Amino acid sequence: MDLYFQGDLQSIKNEIKTEAECLGFSHIGFTIPDNPVHFDTYLEWIINGYAAEMEYLKRPESIARRKDPKLIIPACKSIIVVAMPYTPSGFEKRDYKFPKIANYAIGDDYHIIIPVLLEKLVKFIISKVYPVEVEYRIYTDTGPILEKETAQKAGLGWIGKNTCLIIPGAGSFFFLAEILINLPFDPDSIFEKDFCGNCTRCIDSCPTNCILQNRTIDANRCISYLTIENRGAIPEEFRKKLNGWIFGCDICQQVCLWNIKFSKEPEPNFFKTSVNIQKFDIISELKLDKSEFKNKYSKSPIYRAKYDGYKRNLLIAAGNNFNTELLDPINNIMKNDENPEIRELAAWVLKNK
Ligand code: SF4
Ligand code: SF4
Repeated sequence: MDLYFQGDLQSIKNEIKTEAECLGFSHIGFTIPDNPVHFDTYLEWIINGYAAEMEYLKRPESIARRKDPKLIIPACKSIIVVAMPYTPSGFEKRDYKFPKIANYAIGDDYHIIIPVLLEKLVKFIISKVYPVEVEYRIYTDTGPILEKETAQKAGLGWIGKNTCLIIPGAGSFFFLAEILINLPFDPDSIFEKDFCGNCTRCIDSCPTNCILQNRTIDANRCISYLTIENRGAIPEEFRKKLNGWIFGCDICQQVCLWNIKFSKEPEPNFFKTSVNIQKFDIISELKLDKSEFKNKYSKSPIYRAKYDGYKRNLLIAAGNNFNTELLDPINNIMKNDENPEIRELAAWVLKNK
């Protein structure tokens, strides 16, 4: 890094903040890539099996990088953290009866939208420090980095008891994203306060009691994990507790007063091909074949559950909200689905409806 720029980086930092806001990032902070203080908690979480079947979190190189972000980019001097709101308007008044889809998944897939915006922000930074050569890596929930701690260190907010990053005056319905970069920006002050106080609303409301005392989650029991990342069957003990959630779960955020009071308007970019909850028809969804599922959801976060996972979730939701119109489509799946686990689940649903 050419020292020529040291004196100018602070004013460039302010310009970056303004540019980030223009791109739709409501919050931005800067920090340094030192060893995270929550690393031991993370390791303990893995060792205790709370990561369930998320093997990508357990790989030695992935663990090592979470401990030392400089293993990702040895020249890394700063991590820029940005946040973007995704709450649909009036979420607090939203009818969460059925189907229940996590707020973040109603719009388009943030993995498609946010990287484009991050690249634009990097391009802006490059233009400001030219001719310095810029090395960087961008992530949005995709890299081996302790994202919430990094956001806290960058001054954005605190990690709530519901394990989410809570931004004061804005809540937790945000996507987080990071730029690891070789430019030595002055770090912002760490957010040291904890405004959860004596509140336990999220812990008390979690239907599967999976929020742990150390602000982590036992993924094996979490509806978000069970309906999204989990590739296998959903254990019987949780099937009734899904209670209509077909993709993700928002309860521990929905009950948080920081969200009820301060939810922010979402970035309109996310709602081009959004799922229309008001017109959602579970019978049509149960009838989707693989290619119809792909056509409908390939730009939606729902695609992450994959076809069989989505069908599994729909079947359980159908069983929990059963009416006679569902009998034929479930019967059809029980007899004809190519996946024996899905056929078996359809039979279970009909028996236990
Ligand atoms: S997402 Fe749902 S199941 Fe998971 S911790 Fe939050 S309330 Fe509990
Ligand atoms: S519900 Fe209460 S305890 Fe949970 S994250 Fe929000 S403020 Fe913290």
